[in-house]
Parts: sequence; structure tokens; C-alpha cells
Amino acid sequence: MDYQLPDPLFFTTPSDYLARAAPSYEEFLKALTERPDYFPDYLEELAQANDLDYSEYEDVSAELLEVAAAVAPAMAEKIWDKEVLKQQTWPFETDNDRLDAAYAQLAPTIVGHHDEWCCNSCAWVDYETKAEKGMYPDAEGYVFYNEQSSEKAYDSHRGLLLYFNSIPSSEEGSKAVARKVFDALKDQGLKVEWSEDSETYIEVPMIWQRRLTPRS
Ligand SMILES: [Zn+2]
Repeated sequence: MDYQLPDPLFFTTPSDYLARAAPSYEEFLKALTERPDYFPDYLEELAQANDLDYSEYEDVSAELLEVAAAVAPAMAEKIWDKEVLKQQTWPFETDNDRLDAAYAQLAPTIVGHHDEWCCNSCAWVDYETKAEKGMYPDAEGYVFYNEQSSEKAYDSHRGLLLYFNSIPSSEEGSKAVARKVFDALKDQGLKVEWSEDSETYIEVPMIWQRRLTPRS
């Protein structure tokens, strides 16, 4: 499954990033090594342990970056293993697995994306541009959720909001796409709410449990 990774900037701790976004181990390690400033709490801890100054609102010092790079591999491994242990207690099929399965069922007629952009304004523009360029030649439409929505689904267990449109965009086309998305989600055993309106979203109440891909 091809995930667009949410920007790590949205997280305060590496554990949250791992649990919500399920990046690959390499991507996780890279974020901890190169952009420790994405995780203010983590950086604060490192600074305290090493008697270095750190304020969330200032540039990260070269010393602190060096410290972060030095501890990143051990830290990444520890947080990763802890999350893997937790995931072993999960049900055989999680709601995120069901969502993935629904996307697979819809492909290639309807293109499904995860964590597509920070907000809908950015996502719509991107889809319009890609559709105009002919990047989805076989698709009759697309479905996605943005990073704000997955953040809420993860943090506060609110319903994941899925947005959709047809290619080319039309009211009837959009409704037809939404109906197919609705059916696929139901087929996979998810609860789905939609008002049959082409202008609104499909809401999927779910428990956020996204699996990590094993690290090599
Ligand atoms: Zn945006």
C-alpha cells in the first residue's frame, strides 16, 4: 500500500508519529536524525540530558543536532520495538486494514490516497492538476483523507472524513464515485455515514490502528 506520509511537523513525539503514520523504519530513523526539531518533546529531553539549551521557538543548535544524530538509531529501535509489541495485541483485522482493503477493492477505477496533504484546499488543487496532466488515465474518480482528519481520528477517535470527486469533476460523477466508495467501505466491514450529497464527505468512525511494515 502506497502511503503519502504526513509531515512529521504535525507531531510532538516520535511515538505519535510512528503510531499514526506508520512510516518505514528508514523514514522514521531519518526523521529522528535529520529533523529532531519536528518533535519538540524529544528534543527537550535530549537537551536536558545533555545540559544543552533548547527552546522550541529557536533554531536548533549544531550541538543538539549532533546529540540527536548520535542517539537516533538506539532511540528509533526502542520506540519501534515498543510499538511492534503493542501491535501484537491488535485484532487480526483492524479498521485501518479494512480501509486499505476498500481502497484495493476500488482500484484502479477509483484512486484512493492516505494522508493527502495538510488540508482539502491543497489536495483539490493537486488532484485537479494531476487529472489535467492525465496522470489518472483509467480512473473515474478519487477518494482521500487529509492529515487534519487522520490526526483527529488518531488523537480523539473521531470519524475519518473521506473526500471524493469524479474525473472530470461533475455533480453526477462525484455522486457515483461516492456511492462506490461507500459500498466498498461497507463491504469491508466498516461503519460508514454519508448523506448522499455530492458536496459533502463520507465519515468513517474507526479505531486508528495502522500496522508497521516489518523492518529488515
Ligand atoms: Zn493545505
